[in-house]
Amino acid sequence: MSRRLIIFDFDGTIADTYPVFLAFVSREGFRFDAGEAGELRDLSLREAVKRLGIPDRKLLAFVRKFRRYFRKTCDELPLIEGVSDAIARLHEEGYLLAILSTNDTRNIRKILKREGMWQYFDIVRSERNIFGKARSIRRLVRKVGFAPSATWYVGDEVRDIEAAREAGVRSVAVTWGFNSDAALRASHPDSLVSTPSELSDVFS
Ligand SMILES: [Mg+2]
Repeated sequence: MSRRLIIFDFDGTIADTYPVFLAFVSREGFRFDAGEAGELRDLSLREAVKRLGIPDRKLLAFVRKFRRYFRKTCDELPLIEGVSDAIARLHEEGYLLAILSTNDTRNIRKILKREGMWQYFDIVRSERNIFGKARSIRRLVRKVGFAPSATWYVGDEVRDIEAAREAGVRSVAVTWGFNSDAALRASHPDSLVSTPSELSDVFS
């Protein structure tokens, strides 16, 4: 098999971050019930930010604050059930595995080491701009020297699918993270999976 590159998003795709995000926004004074928290999942990040009433000029500070909160609370953060086995399998099958996230690489490293998964990833990159993933994907693919058509980006958000499309790589939406199944389908990913065990079928 010629080598293929699979790039993963981290939060919501590998780590179960959504409950931490909800705890953070409620701590910041945003009040909503379970129904409203569910509705947020149908919105893209831009729309969710708007719904929470965060003005564009405050978004960067909000994201920075979340990263700090995350750093303090991530010791207990669980991974999505079954993801560890699915990734170990892809690694054994010979795929080159990478992570491209807007989270801090220090947080990612800490969690992956704790879970015994650090060695599966050849590349771990952070993109500070939460809407800058397309550019980062393109840069990473160029650096590794793979064809975009032999590359996938796997993510849990509409913005991940859009970034993959913009970068010219194939997209895989996972339904266990931030965005709902319906919102992800509407963004027309190349593939959509609802459990980690389905992942290896996508790439074969
Ligand atoms: Mg994510």
